[in-house]
Amino acid sequence: MSNRDLLSTLVLARGTLDRAAQFRADQAWQGARRADPTSMVMWVCEAASPMHLSDTSAELILSSANEVDAELTFLGLDADDIAYFAAHVDDHQDARVDPNALWKNLRATGALLSDRDAGIMVTAVAIDNWMRTHRHCPRCGGATRISNAGWSRVCLTDGSDHFPRTDPAVIVLVTDGEDRALLGRQAVWQEGFFSTLAGFVESGESSEAALRREVFEESGVTISTDPADIVYLGSQPWPFPCSLMLGYHAKAIDPTINVDGSEIVEAMWISRAELLAACEKGEVRLPPSISIARKLIERWYGGVLPEAFSRA
Ligand SMILES: [Zn+2]
Repeated sequence: MSNRDLLSTLVLARGTLDRAAQFRADQAWQGARRADPTSMVMWVCEAASPMHLSDTSAELILSSANEVDAELTFLGLDADDIAYFAAHVDDHQDARVDPNALWKNLRATGALLSDRDAGIMVTAVAIDNWMRTHRHCPRCGGATRISNAGWSRVCLTDGSDHFPRTDPAVIVLVTDGEDRALLGRQAVWQEGFFSTLAGFVESGESSEAALRREVFEESGVTISTDPADIVYLGSQPWPFPCSLMLGYHAKAIDPTINVDGSEIVEAMWISRAELLAACEKGEVRLPPSISIARKLIERWYGGVLPEAFSRA
């Protein structure tokens, strides 16, 4: 149960840059790198970026930093000491790229991007989502300004610092005594869409407690309290808008299903053979390969499942 093989290929957990956080507050260094024509800028607008796209690959369209006049976040350095930044724009037309460039989001193209591009886009989108929703000081409501090369905001009234938010969420593949998997359908999903159960960690709660609470609330299933029966497998950033998904495998001690009817409207215990048959008949559709849920299901199943089994 501790095998993490399939969770080592999490699409949005890739990245090749050194974040080089020691240079964020160094304004002379930041200024020099922004003026350096070898420094590269990626563009982000409403969670999308311009890219070259084919059926099998996607590549971000980058600009030279010295040609960009926009709010920048420093993303890090590559192995050749090239600096990368994200430029935040409110309109595609404000980006200095071909006006006909395709703007795509991570859900559509995350799996097609290189390790470097996936890493910088996930970070840029997460920071952009935070910037747009935290323009005012949570203490006094005053205006804030961007600081630390994009990595904090400072209140202009009381000087307090505020940092990008990441909301931890647990996601778990639960098995019963027959090694069947527990899958559920959210109320907002179409008929036939199933996934593992998930939920946010609440204030003052451990991730393991959140996992037991969420599974019980949503499905009625009780998870074992034995630490050996709750195994952490890996995590993936999920910037929609700012989550970190913590992946687990857990065992049920009471498999009785009683869905909450609001968040989860349908849940089932399913064997590997039943899952395969249901997917082949089109009766069940699985989460996309970009998600940690898909990797948890494939890890339990014992291999990669066809892309045709994914929901559209
Ligand atoms: Zn303030």
